[in-house]
Amino acid sequence: MLSLAILEHFRGRGVRPPEEKRITAGKPSRRLPAPDKVYLSLLQHAGTPCTPTVRKGDRVIRGQVVGEPSGLGAPVHSPICGRVVAVEPYPHPSGQLVPTVIIENDGGDSFLPLDRSYLGDTSMPEAMDPAGIRRLALEAGLVGLGGGLFPTHIKLTPRSDPRPDLLILNGCECEPYLTCDHRLMVEEPHLVLWGARAMRRALGVNNVVIAIEDNKPDAIELISHMIRELPGFSLRVLPSRYPQGAERTLTRTLTGRQVPSCGLPADVGVVVHNVGTAAALGRALLHSEPLLERIVTVAGDAVREPGNFWVAIGTPIGEVLRQAGLKEAPVRKVIMGGPMMGLATSSLELPILKGCSGLLAFTAEQETLAESLPCVRCGRCLEVCPQGLAPVRLTQLVAAGMVTEAATNGLLDCVECGACAYICPSRRPLVQYLRQGKAELRRRQAQQPAGQPTKQPVCRDQVSA
Ligand code: SF4
Ligand code: SF4
Repeated sequence: MLSLAILEHFRGRGVRPPEEKRITAGKPSRRLPAPDKVYLSLLQHAGTPCTPTVRKGDRVIRGQVVGEPSGLGAPVHSPICGRVVAVEPYPHPSGQLVPTVIIENDGGDSFLPLDRSYLGDTSMPEAMDPAGIRRLALEAGLVGLGGGLFPTHIKLTPRSDPRPDLLILNGCECEPYLTCDHRLMVEEPHLVLWGARAMRRALGVNNVVIAIEDNKPDAIELISHMIRELPGFSLRVLPSRYPQGAERTLTRTLTGRQVPSCGLPADVGVVVHNVGTAAALGRALLHSEPLLERIVTVAGDAVREPGNFWVAIGTPIGEVLRQAGLKEAPVRKVIMGGPMMGLATSSLELPILKGCSGLLAFTAEQETLAESLPCVRCGRCLEVCPQGLAPVRLTQLVAAGMVTEAATNGLLDCVECGACAYICPSRRPLVQYLRQGKAELRRRQAQQPAGQPTKQPVCRDQVSA
């Protein structure tokens, strides 16, 4: 049981938007057929784009690496057999053009499995070589599938100070509409737990806490039953509240440990991984399969058959929406991810990336265009911020160009959850201002001459699980 004192950390903060999960949460997931073409972006992780390992005209098979990281990153694999028709800049959800390998499907069924020979004894995760698990996570192209996109092999490398003592498996899935983690826990719990055991082994920790919100009773029942025989594993059921699953919030809620400003849970001995990442590691360990596909929640009033779908990485989002029965009514807005933190796009040509947990399509009727009004100083944005920030003050500073002052007031601790913008009665575009302020800070940091001490606060990227 969680103590009331610990729950108090998040009580009253965050928001409770309509969940909109019921339609997809109870439906078994479906696997979509492989598309005619895949668009494999070489930037699907936190870091720099991969270097292509194939050229136009090459034939590739399923599981073959088409891009290798040249710095921080993870390799990209082809989810189909076919011919490379182009390696060229292509639109990316970030709005930039990013090098992309485009492959035309030839219907072949050859598969190149991962090499697992370096894992040692594979009979159980607890017997595997920890360095081998990290190597497999890298070679499988794993990144944080909850949207964090940080390369998994790095998050599985334990620090020496402080040594990690707890692994949190994040199954909260607090964003409205999204149910892909929920379905994964219900349909493939053995993969989730196999991966979690390997993560624990790689990190050298004993204890694993699986956190699930109370709106997923079937997953709670199944996982609690399955971990009874797993020493060191426990389950924490948390009240549904957004952004319960943000890793800093989750760390504080479950342990009472406060992640320092601009820090990571690893700074307080905690490592947080998403259940989807654990399942992908489980699949690589048990089936030698790199990250070739992912489960995506497709919903919104513009689709006839909302549900969860297994989709090949690189499939154009328009193709996924059509398979889910895109209505003929004009689509007003498509969001990649959830409605709170996802990215809105007008292009149906963008590909599914490793971190894409949802595709939400809305018609003109459902989308309401509300005009932004002046701030009425109601203070609601301060009340809900899970980081204890003053969003209205931060946005005023950013608007005035005073980003260094905004950083001093905690700008870099903002996790961009959108709770402040959601609650704002004046519909102020608070998150846009906050992102703009961070971008300006990064720009100023980049302009500092090499070797000169920076005058701007430096912060590591926020990493969600
Ligand atoms: S200021 Fe940042 S962390 Fe706080 S509610 Fe707004 S978006 Fe979330
Ligand atoms: S919630 Fe909106 S109106 Fe209220 S103080 Fe914050 S920015 Fe101003």
